[in-house]
Amino acid sequence: MNKSIRDDFPILSRSVYGRPLVYLDNAATTQKPRQVVEAIADEYYNVNANVHRGVHFLSQQATDLHEQSRETVRRFINAHSTNEIIFTRGTTESINLLARTLAQYDSNTGEVGEVIVSQMEHHSNIVPWQLNGFKLRVIPMSDEGVLDIDAYQKLFSPQTRMVSVTHVSNVMGVINPVEEITRIAHEHGVPVLIDGAQSTPHMTVDMQALGCDFFAFSGHKIYGPTGIGVFYGKEEWLDKLPPYQGGGEMIKNVSFEHTTFNELPYKFEAGTPDYVGSHALAVALDYVSQIGMEVIHQHEAELTTYAVQQMQTIPGIRIYGNSQHSTVNCQLSSAGPVSFNVEGIHHLDLGTLLDRLGIAVRTGHHCAEPLMHRLGVEGTVRISFGLYNTIDEIDTFIAGLRRVIQMF
Ligand code: PMP
Repeated sequence: MNKSIRDDFPILSRSVYGRPLVYLDNAATTQKPRQVVEAIADEYYNVNANVHRGVHFLSQQATDLHEQSRETVRRFINAHSTNEIIFTRGTTESINLLARTLAQYDSNTGEVGEVIVSQMEHHSNIVPWQLNGFKLRVIPMSDEGVLDIDAYQKLFSPQTRMVSVTHVSNVMGVINPVEEITRIAHEHGVPVLIDGAQSTPHMTVDMQALGCDFFAFSGHKIYGPTGIGVFYGKEEWLDKLPPYQGGGEMIKNVSFEHTTFNELPYKFEAGTPDYVGSHALAVALDYVSQIGMEVIHQHEAELTTYAVQQMQTIPGIRIYGNSQHSTVNCQLSSAGPVSFNVEGIHHLDLGTLLDRLGIAVRTGHHCAEPLMHRLGVEGTVRISFGLYNTIDEIDTFIAGLRRVIQMF
């Protein structure tokens, strides 16, 4: 990766506790390049006006930026149409949108059924379904974090309403075979949601190649701002589902007796949208596209492979979701996060002491308590990479880890 890329991220040159920052918490959120921060400032300084409803110049300019951003998202994930791109607050809101509207849709037909999820889901792909009355059926996984496809095939029943699985585990970095999962679901006539929170920042995601019916991702994990994300849905589904929230923008006509709804995608976007956020997200997507998602993926795969190899030389370390065989290791965890524990040391203590050395990692259950139960742990330490991380930083992390272990 070109060294000047780091200069685009001013925060990377700051220090913490008098040491250079080594930021290895990218799965939680990524840092922002100047281009994104400047786009936000520029829009507030020079363009700001509410979108869609104004005849005046600024409103039209803000609307153009917002709608061009929708097109940038469409292109980035290769959706058919901008009608399929709904702006939300992020992955969590996208999944809540689907769970709520599907439950409402089903309640018209008299039944709220089952949703198939995997053992490794983030809470945001578990709780929204529960809140809306769906019963969860769970795809089991092996100790290495590989989903059991035979068991998956047996989970379908006439009550199955959705398959909802994560593309990449936010704990183990495992890339799930979502094309195969989608194909099988479709053979059963069941639609599929893919949680793309951890895949979109690290690899090319292509809606037409994946074939899924719904897809969700968050702007802040792909170098964009917080508070903006995307819900993708196939038009045939979005036409069928009822609106999510009510308010301005999502209506065609309102009376006290009867309200009609706007066309796609506005039917799902009640109220003033985060039009500055959508524009800044588009700038972030253009930024990564210019580098190239394949280049980013390759760079991060090299970092992950190197990190796992180095970590395996540390006595007492246990890496989760990685087989003992190094070839499987590299394949499985080539999309970012690597989780581990060190025998006899609490994960929180490890994280706290690494922080004192300037190394930012995440500790805890990573919003995946059912996965922690499956792994038989209370929590882990997780490192995760972004496009700006370097081999030198991994060396600093490994040296820091050895030092912390020696202290115990
Ligand atoms: N799914 C996965 C796999 C995640 O890693 C995350 C964020 N940690 C989410 C969903 C939720 O994303 P957000 O908090 O941006 O809505």
